[in-house]
Amino acid sequence: MKTILIVGTGFSGAVIGRELANAGLKVKIVDSRSHVAGNCYSERDSQTGIMIHKYGPHIFHTDNQEVWEYISKFTEFMPYVNRVKSTVGNSVFSLPINLHTINQFFNKALNPAEAKELIRSLGDQTIENPENFEEQALRFVGRELYDAFFKGYTKKQWGLEPTELPASILKRLPIRFNYDDNYFNHKYQGMPKDGYTPIVEKILNHPNITIELDREILKKDTTDYDHVFFSGPLDSWFSYSEGRLGYRTLDFQEIRDSGDFQGCAVMNYGDESVAHTRISEHKFFAPWESHSGTVAFREYSRECSPGDIPYYPIRLSSEQCLLQKYVAMAKAEQNVTFVGRLGTYRYLDMDVTIAEALHTAKNFLKAVESKNPIPAFFVEPL
Ligand code: UDP
Repeated sequence: MKTILIVGTGFSGAVIGRELANAGLKVKIVDSRSHVAGNCYSERDSQTGIMIHKYGPHIFHTDNQEVWEYISKFTEFMPYVNRVKSTVGNSVFSLPINLHTINQFFNKALNPAEAKELIRSLGDQTIENPENFEEQALRFVGRELYDAFFKGYTKKQWGLEPTELPASILKRLPIRFNYDDNYFNHKYQGMPKDGYTPIVEKILNHPNITIELDREILKKDTTDYDHVFFSGPLDSWFSYSEGRLGYRTLDFQEIRDSGDFQGCAVMNYGDESVAHTRISEHKFFAPWESHSGTVAFREYSRECSPGDIPYYPIRLSSEQCLLQKYVAMAKAEQNVTFVGRLGTYRYLDMDVTIAEALHTAKNFLKAVESKNPIPAFFVEPL
């Protein structure tokens, strides 16, 4: 192996690049943007000094100790617990649904056992095997909570009826019968002290790694390399020959204020009549800092068209069919491995992305050493 080309400087590309560089391989890593770190990119706002997560809020949370230890070598993590609120009608509630939400919503003062019994009685027990998002919600929280917190938000987020979406999406969110309003259940959670960009810069800071920014790479540009790791969209590698895999993209509308705008980091909007899904006020992602002004962003979700930034893979059955075609084509390719959220068309949290990148690098090195063929995917997208 002489030189490895990695396309994309997000966590997938950066971690794989670093692991291969540590093993003595020469790595060239390119990115079509003018900066590293992909959608994790963060920078200080020039007017207020607030750390802005340019492509939407990123909160690091994981149960994976290896990943936590790995990333902690590249940053100091500051204590941060994500506490999300939801505005529904004229009221503000606590998310994920917890005892406070239930008591406030039903105007009661229930204890955990009573709340559990109430929610059980409201859940539609006739739905034995929930087959979609709506059925999953109706079974577990009942009509009223579903209509308030999930129905409108989900329609705005995905542009689809919740009956068309898989039940698995809702399984990301817990329901709690205590007053714990931590959005995540994970053992480790924190915010990097200086944002995400310096983490990726440090990961890539190695004598065996060269970085080239503002460089769009097509398949035909990769022939000089022994192997390519591609973290761009899987369908783009094939010039979208079979059609485009569906994504949702996001638009961010900036809000500036001299004081605090909403008083918390994330405010979701459950009502369908409000066009945005949520507002994030970025200074609250760094509670250890103090800033007098503020910057917040209204977030709007819409269908991703050519030229837009792809965020959320849709993965409905029609996309699954197309995905199968691209996966088969990818497996017929030589010397290229597809990685990460876009390369494998899956919605991945940062910790999973890093875990998969470590796994990919390790198994790639093993395959090279034993002269085995290098697969198109070390993590199967299907
Ligand atoms: N969701 C919802 N209401 C909310 C928050 C989330 O209905 O207030 C649903 C929505 O369908 C969303 C899914 O739960 O896509 C997962 O939410 P999560 O907060 O994990 O989404 P992310 O932050 O990854 O966009």
